Amino acid sequence: MKKNKLKKFEELLQSIRVEIVGEVEKSGKGIEAEQMADISDDAARAYDRKLQGDLEEQEWSKLKQVEVALEKIEIGGFGICEQCEKEIPEARLEILPYAEFCTQCLSEIEKKSSLDDQEIQYTKEP
Ligand SMILES: [Zn+2]
Repeated sequence: MKKNKLKKFEELLQSIRVEIVGEVEKSGKGIEAEQMADISDDAARAYDRKLQGDLEEQEWSKLKQVEVALEKIEIGGFGICEQCEKEIPEARLEILPYAEFCTQCLSEIEKKSSLDDQEIQYTKEP
């Protein structure tokens, strides 16, 4: 992916991150985002736990996905499907910049997990 495209997704991801974290900070319980840069690992972990306590489960996992995606922009591999290692279409990334899988793999994973559910039901039968 081209650098300027990556930059665009990075900004998009950061704004999502601010949106999620900002909710907590607005309520006056969080730490200022600016302070995050130079606090120690321990403080960062404590901050993590605090955030986790304040965020809904769904928001928290979204935040983690956003952070993973931001890391991938930094170290490489952003926009690559975790399953088939093909490029995730940009149109999909524009809607879901923190997508981990391409739509094909995602539907396969979903199909598989619903199959797993069925298997559990079968084993329950006498
Ligand atoms: Zn895939």
